[in-house]
Amino acid sequence: MRTPLTIAQAQQHARQLGVDRLDAQLLLCEAVQQGRAWLFAHDTDTLTPPQQSRFLADLQRRAAGEPLAYIVGEKEFFGLTLQVSRDVLVPRPDTETLVEWALSLIPDQAQTTVLDLGTGSGAIALAIQHARPQTKVTAVDASEAALLMAQNNARILHLPVSFHHGSWLTPVEGQRFDLIVSNPPYIAEGDPHMAALGFEPKQALTSGPDGLDDLRQIVAAAPDHLQPGGWLLLEHGYDQPVAVAQLLRDHGFSNVSTRFDLGGQARCTGGQRPA
Ligand code: GLN
Repeated sequence: MRTPLTIAQAQQHARQLGVDRLDAQLLLCEAVQQGRAWLFAHDTDTLTPPQQSRFLADLQRRAAGEPLAYIVGEKEFFGLTLQVSRDVLVPRPDTETLVEWALSLIPDQAQTTVLDLGTGSGAIALAIQHARPQTKVTAVDASEAALLMAQNNARILHLPVSFHHGSWLTPVEGQRFDLIVSNPPYIAEGDPHMAALGFEPKQALTSGPDGLDDLRQIVAAAPDHLQPGGWLLLEHGYDQPVAVAQLLRDHGFSNVSTRFDLGGQARCTGGQRPA
């Protein structure tokens, strides 16, 4: 039997394991089922045995590098709370740049059709559907497990996105959209950055020796699935804007430009299929 820890001691223990202060507080909140403000007012309260074992188990996972989102099972993206598991990439704030760009291209009242390729948790598709209720959003993923996660998120959030299983544009053969968006895998295989991403699905992260294999497939197939004047917006790595812009131009896209994320990194590049 362990000695019961107080709230303050639990936080001190987390610090000794090298766990970030905010993360430790959020794990404590999960264990005691209270908000952060409660923690500050209850420094000397002791954890019950079930609270303590839950907290220590979660803390071990976090100390081993598992993303907080997987441990608590959810992540906020564009103001929506999404359920996440190790079947899907953790939605990143960087990707909100892509959503903002997409929304700027969707007029408030128009019946725009939008396709999200490689939807994962459904983050991009659901954010767009939520902000523009009149759009008809379709989302595709090659992973059945990811698609189940996304469908579950759509159900919880009451958002009418339609989901299809398959690789990139194959599930929407014969259909055309006003806007196609994607945050595909784009990290080069063997990139040292992957070491820090070991808990996330590799098929959502890496794409060939230069990270561009999936982006190439999407750009090549997209023109046949866009309305004249339709847009393709793609997230990519900080060092890929020139390559992605070139790919788009090579496939006949015009008005090609790049947007930067809040950290100042080139984060997405898009273009328009000529009318
Ligand atoms: N932006 C993520 C990262 O570098 C990768 C996302 C992706 O490959 N689509 O951590």
